[in-house]
Amino acid sequence: MKLKNTFLFLFMAFFLFFVAYLSAENKGVPTTREMNLISWQEFQEIVPAKIETVLLPVGSLEPHGVIPNGTDNLCPQAMSRAIAVRLNAMIAPTLNYGVTPAMKAFPGAVSITEEAYSPFVRDILKSLADNKFKNIIILNGHGGNTAQLHEVVADVSNLCRVRILVVNWWSLVSQQTQEVFGEDGGHAGNNETAYVQAVVPEHIHPERYDHDMATVNAIANSWFAVPVPSSIGLYKKGQGYPTFDKKQAEEYFNKVNNRVAELIEDIIRKWDMAKLYN
Ligand SMILES: [Zn+2]
Repeated sequence: MKLKNTFLFLFMAFFLFFVAYLSAENKGVPTTREMNLISWQEFQEIVPAKIETVLLPVGSLEPHGVIPNGTDNLCPQAMSRAIAVRLNAMIAPTLNYGVTPAMKAFPGAVSITEEAYSPFVRDILKSLADNKFKNIIILNGHGGNTAQLHEVVADVSNLCRVRILVVNWWSLVSQQTQEVFGEDGGHAGNNETAYVQAVVPEHIHPERYDHDMATVNAIANSWFAVPVPSSIGLYKKGQGYPTFDKKQAEEYFNKVNNRVAELIEDIIRKWDMAKLYN
């Protein structure tokens, strides 16, 4: 009787595994969307036959008030994982280092020069294009990278005949920031703190926080300081201080992801409509 049960159990387990395997095969669902984890054989089968889009998170290692130094990496990385299925996209490994000379003085920060950053990103984008992705979506988590990214993207897109979009998420979602917090945000302010709190709640340290750790960003080049005096930089005076509220963090995380995915969908749809670099 015991042996019969074991046999029955094994048979059922095998049957369920087989059904799951078949349905995954039929839907063309990859075993993983992470380029770090996928084998070259499976990659060859699905790109570009089944998947035409890749998400590339880029960031920086720099101080962020009382939240992780890697916030600019953790946010776009979590974002890529949250939206990859909706966009039917692969996820390229995160570029964890960026251009941040004005924050290099803070403990644990790492900054690379523009001269090193641009060619490095250029070669990565070219390789992604060589791998036959039609749409390369850069999810940028760090303002210091933006100028270099925009320049490199303009080059590589036309050189490799590939579509590339850079999303500077914190700027894109100003409306969502208003909806959740009723005010504007800041670097390591309410917005970034909330988003990363939803990702790594165990690494948020309100016990170390003080309002005086924030400085309002300079308006119209009125001043320029290296190192920056504070790692929390408010977009507007009196607005954007971190709230450390769990509910707001979750609501903001979902709203931001939704807005970013919506933008990407719209841009790809219009690239398709215009039949550009098809
Ligand atoms: Zn940041």
